[in-house]
Amino acid sequence: KNSSNPSTKNHGDKFLDGLIPSGFDKKSCLSRFELYLYRKSSPHKPSPYLISKLRSYEDLHRKCGPHTKAYKRTMVKLKKFKSINVTTSGSCKYIIWTHADGLGNRMVSMVSSFLYAILTDRVLLVEFQDDMVDLFCEPFPNSSWLLPKDFPFSNNNRNHIETYQNILEKDRENHSKELPSVIQLKILPTNNNHERFFSCDHSQHLLIKVPILIFLSDQYFVPSLFMVPSFTQELSKMFPNKETVFHHLGRYLFFPTNDVWGPTKRFYQAYLAKADEKIGLQIRVFNPDLTSHQTVLNQVLNCTQKHKILPGFAVENSEDSPEKNERLKSVLVASLYPEYGENLRTMYLNKATVTGEILGVYQPSHEGHQKFGDNLHNKKALTEIYLLSLCDDLVTSALSTFGYVAQSLGGITPRILYKLQGNNVPDSPCVQDVSMEPCFHLPPKHDCMEKPIDDDIGTTFPYMRRCLDYKWGIKLV
Ligand code: GDP
Repeated sequence: KNSSNPSTKNHGDKFLDGLIPSGFDKKSCLSRFELYLYRKSSPHKPSPYLISKLRSYEDLHRKCGPHTKAYKRTMVKLKKFKSINVTTSGSCKYIIWTHADGLGNRMVSMVSSFLYAILTDRVLLVEFQDDMVDLFCEPFPNSSWLLPKDFPFSNNNRNHIETYQNILEKDRENHSKELPSVIQLKILPTNNNHERFFSCDHSQHLLIKVPILIFLSDQYFVPSLFMVPSFTQELSKMFPNKETVFHHLGRYLFFPTNDVWGPTKRFYQAYLAKADEKIGLQIRVFNPDLTSHQTVLNQVLNCTQKHKILPGFAVENSEDSPEKNERLKSVLVASLYPEYGENLRTMYLNKATVTGEILGVYQPSHEGHQKFGDNLHNKKALTEIYLLSLCDDLVTSALSTFGYVAQSLGGITPRILYKLQGNNVPDSPCVQDVSMEPCFHLPPKHDCMEKPIDDDIGTTFPYMRRCLDYKWGIKLV
């Protein structure tokens, strides 16, 4: 039984073994002081080197963050000088994170941008629109990560900003004497050449000179950072266990605001806390027009019962009544559709289980469809990501960053439901994943010498594998 009794938790848990700096105000962000009471303590300890890098990052952020002298000075200079020159060197450097896609996508790309910021001595500032307001607490002590409203290269001003792809082209043709002081970098599925040579030293040597990088990505591009030769040593020291990148950085960066944490902990206390075991089912259906809910429900039952994550149903009127078993299993269903929670609840109420276990099935919301630009919708999504992360075991849906975030925050290697084609459920409907890390869906296809990268990525990069839910993707193990 996972105890949420504060007396069994120690100080180390509270600050995540030194990952979280002390000195934050409690009232403005309760989750920072309470989440550890609800989480199992992580078997993965952050390395002392990672902790020291985070403390140095916080110092840099305090020095260069919004409203500091250094920030103002840099922006004045950059507005004046469109390209890099002597006066801009030595200033603070920034990564501006901008949004693309849903919340899970945003969280994986924020973590990637943050790691990139740490590696390149940049300060991470996030440009949140109204729909992202009041989701996350400020992560860095005595400073803010919110991009000031008067940032000179704002959203409606971006058409003139050079792109990384352009710079790279010019560099090839040797026109790169003048690098601009601001560039946009897109790592998106819609961009064919999305990140050509981003994983290569020569690109990084170019980028390092540019004071402001505006990132537009919905991807977990951390694995591509592990491919950059000049980053590998540093990364190995920070993460001796490569599987824990999102686990640590996500737990460091994201704390839900009181608005989100309140409903999360009350839901947990009301429906999950007392259970002997908590199972999270994340059911993301990407093409509800082609695959019926009944088919997906069959897949979920098939997978969970086959692997004994959920008990099977007892045969009706069977002579041998199941052994008396008072165990209570709580099942948390996260889905846009009400059918899953409702049907599972009804089934487990109407039929006894072979093990005699009692199941409570709970689904916090059913939003119907993904809503863009909706703050309340995002708050519900974040609540569910955190609830899933507090479960003991997870079944997630292939290709979903929503599930990736929950699994890495929770430190759980999930079982993944394969993406279905039409209404056929394959004989093996799900697979045990190889690590808790998110999958990077758009890895480079070529190495720095333009040679195609092997399908068996592990031969080139021993701590990487092709993803089981998406064979073109790669992930850290
Ligand atoms: P992905 O598309 O599965 O990779 O995940 P994203 O989080 O990037 O985008 C999906 C968005 O749809 C989420 O951010 C939510 O806004 C919404 N959504 C999808 N599944 C759920 C769910 O189970 N619960 C809630 N509340 N929202 C969901």
